[in-house]
Amino acid sequence: MSLSEIQQRILAEEKRVGRKPGSTRLIAVSKVQPNARVEDVLKQGHRLFGENRVQEAAGKWPAFRAQYDGVELHLIGPLQTNKARQAMGLFDAIHTVDRPKLGRTLARLAQELGHCPELFVEVNTGEEPQKAGVLPKDADAFIKEVRALDLPLVGLMCIPPVDEEPSLHFALLRKIAERNGLKDLSMGMSSDFERAIAQGATYVRVGSAIFGARDYG
Ligand SMILES: *Cc1c(COP(=O)(O)O)cnc(C)c1O
Repeated sequence: MSLSEIQQRILAEEKRVGRKPGSTRLIAVSKVQPNARVEDVLKQGHRLFGENRVQEAAGKWPAFRAQYDGVELHLIGPLQTNKARQAMGLFDAIHTVDRPKLGRTLARLAQELGHCPELFVEVNTGEEPQKAGVLPKDADAFIKEVRALDLPLVGLMCIPPVDEEPSLHFALLRKIAERNGLKDLSMGMSSDFERAIAQGATYVRVGSAIFGARDYG
């Protein structure tokens, strides 16, 4: 598939479910992809990208940013507190705030640096033990805690279990966001972004459907 095909499918789904065209933003997930493929998408004019590792992003995005205006980079993978400072210098948004210690570290750095990326709280909607994210039952309290730290919290993010219908998880995430007055929902990947749009996603994170399969070699 190609970038323009994905963009068309997003528009078609927005139209089908009666949402405003352009109300879903496409994060092109470039992790592990060769630079040539990423550059191809940059040359087509796309500017919003996602990476899941701080180190990998640090290795490739400063050069791309120097070359292309208006790049926006989102961290969609787990963040260790000892990489928080570096992440705050690299990313425009962090989708994976999931524990009080990370919240406190980000708050301290935001004070010191005078800026902070937009933040999302990750919710482990499937309550999977191996996955990051706060449990649904703890989400309201954690959201309050992040807000009390005066951090720019804009939304929620989830990665549904692979073997379950994602729509149920997307709907749950939306419910938690609504009752907490959060506007953004980061949900949906290559295999289910249309279902996420139907449930109100404002960001979809699409990798392999744009760039092709990732070769972890
Ligand atoms: C890799 C990744 C994606 C993109 O996955 P695809 O199936 O390639 O679209 C989305 N979200 C997160 C958190 C990821 O790590």
